[in-house]
Amino acid sequence: MKRKLTELATWLGANGQHMENVTVSGASIDSRTIAAGDLFIPFRGEQVNGHKYVEQAIQKGAAASLWMKDEPDAPEDIPLIFVEDPELALQQLARAYRDELKCKFIGITGSNGKTSTKDLIASVLRPYFNVQKTEGNFNNELGMPLTILSLQEDCEVAVLEMGMSGYGEISFLSKLAKPDYAVITNIGEAHMQDLGSREGIAKAKFEIIDGLKADGKFFYDGDEPLLHDLVNKHPELNSESFGHSDNNDLALVSITSGDEGSEFKVSGIVNGDFTIPVFGAHQVKNTLAAILIAHELGLDESRIDKALRQSKLTDMRMQPVVASSGALFINDAYNAAPTSMQAALSFLKETELRTKKWVVLGDMLELGDNERNYHESIATQLSTIQLEGILLYGPRMKWLRDELEQVGNNSKIIWSESAYEPLIETLRKSIGKDSIVLLKGSRGMALETVMKAVLEG
Ligand code: ATP
Ligand code: MG
Repeated sequence: MKRKLTELATWLGANGQHMENVTVSGASIDSRTIAAGDLFIPFRGEQVNGHKYVEQAIQKGAAASLWMKDEPDAPEDIPLIFVEDPELALQQLARAYRDELKCKFIGITGSNGKTSTKDLIASVLRPYFNVQKTEGNFNNELGMPLTILSLQEDCEVAVLEMGMSGYGEISFLSKLAKPDYAVITNIGEAHMQDLGSREGIAKAKFEIIDGLKADGKFFYDGDEPLLHDLVNKHPELNSESFGHSDNNDLALVSITSGDEGSEFKVSGIVNGDFTIPVFGAHQVKNTLAAILIAHELGLDESRIDKALRQSKLTDMRMQPVVASSGALFINDAYNAAPTSMQAALSFLKETELRTKKWVVLGDMLELGDNERNYHESIATQLSTIQLEGILLYGPRMKWLRDELEQVGNNSKIIWSESAYEPLIETLRKSIGKDSIVLLKGSRGMALETVMKAVLEG
């Protein structure tokens, strides 16, 4: 963006100093990564007071800074806007800038697959439109406004990820972004701790329609009955569903996987064959949302397929990594919750890419009271897969180890509470060109460490 500082002050209804002839081209809350022309937004946290870094931010090229009214000792010679609450001000600025932009906004939420779907939607549109998207995982009440403030004036499509941990958060983000299109990827069990039930989670995600434009469209996982129920309660909502079941407006007919990724056929609103460079029926399903949106924006099957083949997903989501030995790692170590665990394991079960199958599984965190049960119940699915080895990491995975012993499983089983070495050693000794290794665990478990150590030899 390019806006006069005085204009931003008007957006905020606030006063400032030395604002004349100052132009702002972005916003940042971190003085370490500030870019020239940014407006610095200091927060006053329990540990750190951002106001201490205002002068440093200006030295590093920031054009101006916000300053909390009740913070003493404002530097006198720096362009500042005085505000009650910097977080609120950030959101206010994003709201005002959003309202001036002509581009289409796409908001994405869901328990799993937000980042993947965001990447897939951006990938399919990128060759044909000026597309910008949330970087990394900037999906909360700070990240999303910052993303909006980073959009170019001539942006044609903005793809925004919206995350949450409780009621009201998605509603807030949606009302700020006012999406033309809104997507719910799926309903899982993440945040069960805070929301109590899958119904609660579905309701919280469905808040994404709160800010949806009146002529906007809602795209949702049509294999989820809870979402159908919610859609049925809103006859005014213009919606399209996607999923495996034939009843969906866009239905997945078949999938095959090769070293290149997944090839699949769809029917319904769009008909045809498509290819994406990533594994897993769940990633294919996320792609259905991207296909529907591309279709909505006027792209035909061949243009959609051409773009999808070049898709770029963020690392560690069902990402293929081939070792020099020929062993194939599926790096899904970004995160884990029961739904995405199930999805990754069903890919491993179905795949014929390699014959010798291994899993490296780490604890699933933040599951609330039922966490033991969620870990134990992985045993049932594991016993349906022909596995060479099951390598488990983290204190909660002991529950799964005990359950596997109880129900009986012929694979080699290793559990390590807090050291990666036993897992690394086992893989180093055992895997070769016939092997496929799935890595999956919560972010805190950092299972990619195991893969990196094995790749380094
Ligand atoms: P976060 O809440 O951490 O931002 P996210 O919703 O952005 O997560 P991704 O980062 O895309 O989700 O993927 C997280 C994990 O969920 C990955 O392991 C990915 O393979 C898996 N996953 C992606 N899409 C789905 C889906 N539709 N159903 C189940 N699992 C999925
Ligand atoms: Mg994400």
